[in-house]
Amino acid sequence: RFITVEGTEGVGKSTNLAFVSELVRSWGQTIVQTREPGGTPLAEQIRELLLENRSEIVSHKAELLMVFAARAQHLEQMIVPSLERGDWVLSDRFTDATYAYQGGGRGLDCKLIEQLENCVQDELRPDLTIILDIEPEVGLARAAARAELDRFEHEDIAFFNRVRSAYRARVEAAPERYLLVNAGQPLQQVQADIARGLESVKTR
Ligand code: C5P
Repeated sequence: RFITVEGTEGVGKSTNLAFVSELVRSWGQTIVQTREPGGTPLAEQIRELLLENRSEIVSHKAELLMVFAARAQHLEQMIVPSLERGDWVLSDRFTDATYAYQGGGRGLDCKLIEQLENCVQDELRPDLTIILDIEPEVGLARAAARAELDRFEHEDIAFFNRVRSAYRARVEAAPERYLLVNAGQPLQQVQADIARGLESVKTR
């Protein structure tokens, strides 16, 4: 099974990734946890390049191609071999982040993203994508409190609203592949919702 976790800044991705890992392990499955951009040495180098260069330096299309270059490497070296071994793969972000950040946020054409998705992934799509959803104002306040906003500190709230809308549009277009979780609820409730979604993939 291939599970991905998505959301805008400060939604609680790290805490909930750890929760998913633990839960799947408690079912006796081997789970490989990874992240995007990143997950292999080369893809982590691309991540560094992206994170250290602001959008005035990296053009939007260059950014798009960099995330897909990292993804191609990640898939070939890590994700596909793990799935073929029968392991579960849990990724902190994947292609839905590209639709949300490069598509919704940066305004690149979805059709272009779709072409690259088909080219790099062939038929491979996550079995379940958990989208942690919160008003950007609330998430940004949480992330700022932890000084996590380096890459986007100069983006305005409209940028994050577009990212959030793009995630929600993905869910509306294919509800069976997504679990949209209200991340503004108490953590216990968030995790109860996640556990319910994972159960449905487990028994599929
Ligand atoms: O997931 P994490 O927050 O660690 O991602 C690092 C940064 O890269 C974040 O600011 C995230 O929003 C950004 N990012 C991006 N485009 C992607 C994936 C992540 O701009 N496709």
